[in-house]
Amino acid sequence: MKILVINSGSSSLKYQLFDYDNKKVIAKGLCERIGIDNPHFKHEDASGHVINEDRRLDSHGDAVRTMIDTLLDPEFPVIGKLDEITAVGHRIVHGGPYFSKPVIMTEESKDSVRKCFPWSPLHNPANLIGVEVCESLMPGIPQVGVFDTAFHHSMPPEAYMYGIPYEYYEKYGVRRYGFHGTSHAYVTRRASELTQFEWNASHRLITCHLGNGASFAAVKGGVCIDTSMGLTPLEGIMMGTRCGSIDPAIVPFLAKLDNLSLDEVDGLLNHKSGIYGISGISSDFRDVHAAASQGNYRAKLAVQMFCYQAVKILGSFIAALGGIDTIVFTAGIGENDSVVRQSICEGISYRGLKIDDDINNATHGKEVKLSTDDSLVEVFVIPTNEELSIAMQTVDLLALA
Ligand code: ADP
Repeated sequence: MKILVINSGSSSLKYQLFDYDNKKVIAKGLCERIGIDNPHFKHEDASGHVINEDRRLDSHGDAVRTMIDTLLDPEFPVIGKLDEITAVGHRIVHGGPYFSKPVIMTEESKDSVRKCFPWSPLHNPANLIGVEVCESLMPGIPQVGVFDTAFHHSMPPEAYMYGIPYEYYEKYGVRRYGFHGTSHAYVTRRASELTQFEWNASHRLITCHLGNGASFAAVKGGVCIDTSMGLTPLEGIMMGTRCGSIDPAIVPFLAKLDNLSLDEVDGLLNHKSGIYGISGISSDFRDVHAAASQGNYRAKLAVQMFCYQAVKILGSFIAALGGIDTIVFTAGIGENDSVVRQSICEGISYRGLKIDDDINNATHGKEVKLSTDDSLVEVFVIPTNEELSIAMQTVDLLALA
């Protein structure tokens, strides 16, 4: 069975085609700068055939046509006919209060995706364009929407409400939604297979998705009860360039003192803050570690702040869960950065958490148990795979497996 996964952005379209039975990617590609200058197309398949060239891509329709033509190219065929693709899973960033699980895209579900535009004005319209173009160019193939927010839909109101007048929740849906749901769902599913504790309704798990964007989920018995991101991905831990949770009064304070518009403050908090803003060097932890090891104070501070904030969030989620059984690290930093993992684990050692330092230092991008046998908390590194997660959820929804 072949499942195509599409992640459509405002000027880009990424795809992966899975041989689902073997959980293998048989082709993947990226159309960049669609509808703007210097559009570019990259593609590679399992046989090693690679395309990496400028292409005319005036619209998302062009991008999907380019993808289809490339998959069917008689010289380097990935598939013989389009109907070999059983279903298409689309990443959709915001499902608002409407989607708690993946759905087949119908006129009704597309209307609900449109209702989520105000919460994700850059991503959701682009995600929907991807769905509509695939519908028209791949008739008869089910198109499934998989939502970044859906995993967090189970949060109770006391976790998702903000302490602002209730009318803003009613009028504009101002509440916490959370993101990275496909990743948190994927590693939760894998943790349920790896844990040595009983996987029952009382199992207490925290998943730490630490990448350029970073978020945590508190998961009880496989069900999300809290997460660190909010109405937008700006809330929670400081990230590559996002500030994370700050005193909201900083917004008018900066706007007044520096004579900035609201959009300018928004840009500053999203793109110039976090690890980049503190270190003044980079948003990438590898660069920041390198500078810290040369004695750069701000680089060191950025890493220390990140780890301290992670421990604070973990502590609050441990309280919310009433204890902790299992912690999972995933995404770029979680999978690769042994220094950050060690510092965070040290901060939770008061719970009887112990990791094997040698295993931790040697673990980069592979699945591993970091905790020692006498640790009271299990700690795993589980590489995330958001595309495979979308493919799995698509297959589950269509009851294809
Ligand atoms: P996103 O998908 O949100 O763009 P990723 O999950 O790919 O982000 O994570 C990117 C981050 O992971 C980089 O900013 C970098 O800081 C970190 N990272 C990746 N590889 C390593 C590594 N080998 N050591 C330390 N950090 C790494």
